[in-house]
Amino acid sequence: MADAKRIQRDLEALRDFSAPGGEGTTRLSYTPAFRKAADYVLEQMRACALEAREDGVGNLYGLRRGLDPAAPKILSGSHLDTVRCSGYFDGQAGIVCALEVARMLEENGVRLRRGFEAVATVMEEGARFKNLGGSKLAMGVWGEAELDGMQDDDGITLREALRAYGLSGNLACVCRRDEPVRAFLEVHMEQGSRLEREGIDLGVVEKIFGCRWFTLTVKGVTAHPSTPMDQRRDAALASVSLISHMARITAEQYAGRATLTVGRMSLYPGEINAIPSRAVFSMDFRSGQESCFEELDGILERECRRTEQEYGVQAQCELYTYTPPTPCAREIVTALEAAAEKSGSSALRMDSGAGHDAMIFALGWPVGMLFLPSRRGLTHCKEEWTDYENVARGADALYKAVLALDRE
Ligand SMILES: [Zn+2]
Repeated sequence: MADAKRIQRDLEALRDFSAPGGEGTTRLSYTPAFRKAADYVLEQMRACALEAREDGVGNLYGLRRGLDPAAPKILSGSHLDTVRCSGYFDGQAGIVCALEVARMLEENGVRLRRGFEAVATVMEEGARFKNLGGSKLAMGVWGEAELDGMQDDDGITLREALRAYGLSGNLACVCRRDEPVRAFLEVHMEQGSRLEREGIDLGVVEKIFGCRWFTLTVKGVTAHPSTPMDQRRDAALASVSLISHMARITAEQYAGRATLTVGRMSLYPGEINAIPSRAVFSMDFRSGQESCFEELDGILERECRRTEQEYGVQAQCELYTYTPPTPCAREIVTALEAAAEKSGSSALRMDSGAGHDAMIFALGWPVGMLFLPSRRGLTHCKEEWTDYENVARGADALYKAVLALDRE
């Protein structure tokens, strides 16, 4: 059985590798806090007899060799980075479960036919560079162009960040897409409260929702606040109107099928006593259906034109990233469900509204995900919580799934 005490120790250790100041845990990729957390994970990998390594971009791998070197491996893990002021379960719980499985294999003296590899990815959250970066580099979706072309908010390119962090940025051994892999299994907390509400131990993910991010720029004309209301070209008012129209349409016409979030917004020149000449904001659409994204693209375009006419502004919409909806491999879903049952946990099939590294690994390998209950559905905040016993249940189910997939 998985040991909830060890799981707690690992999670609390990771919690404390955080940038100073601010609430909760803040561990952006390639920062000193991330370095300390990565060293801790590498150390724990070695402690449970895994061959630990860091690739050229900061993804961590710990391999337990199988008896048959030709047999496709089983990989399991999640991301080590966090958003700002986060909790310490999102991502981290999946890494800790993979470590716990490695410990259980070692303690029980299990010799697997397949190799088992614990994984901790970098850059999943998009809090510094674009999201899902570690897995995108590991699957060859990103390459040299992204290392030089991508910048954080301080203008530091990804390549510069890698160098400052002490990594080569050499992509030669980073891409693993062509490796034979039986399954990538990711344990992650649910980003919702369904498991908690229904009193279920574990979620077995059938499909991961796609995510489509836009950057919108609305240009008006700055003027003194005494300008009569009907003579303005106010970038802020125009943006608010565009956002509220899009939110209403999404809520009314796409209820249960798509969501819209505006999480970032900046106004320029940003003075109390000046009508803004420019507004820049994000739009994050999520859906399980590609057709919804296509329709919403058309609606967004139409609403941009309407806003331009109504407010005398220019509205530009630029696609920032797109990850399409991804189904988990059907036989892995079945295996995880059976493993949950075998380890004495109740399980529920569900979709993931949030994006995960598993959807990128799915480009090359069969993937599956196990969800852990999240207290009140809160994540990406310091209140984020999953009981340690629940994380241990996830590790137990993962262990059974690894054994089952090894026997195939
Ligand atoms: Zn996550």
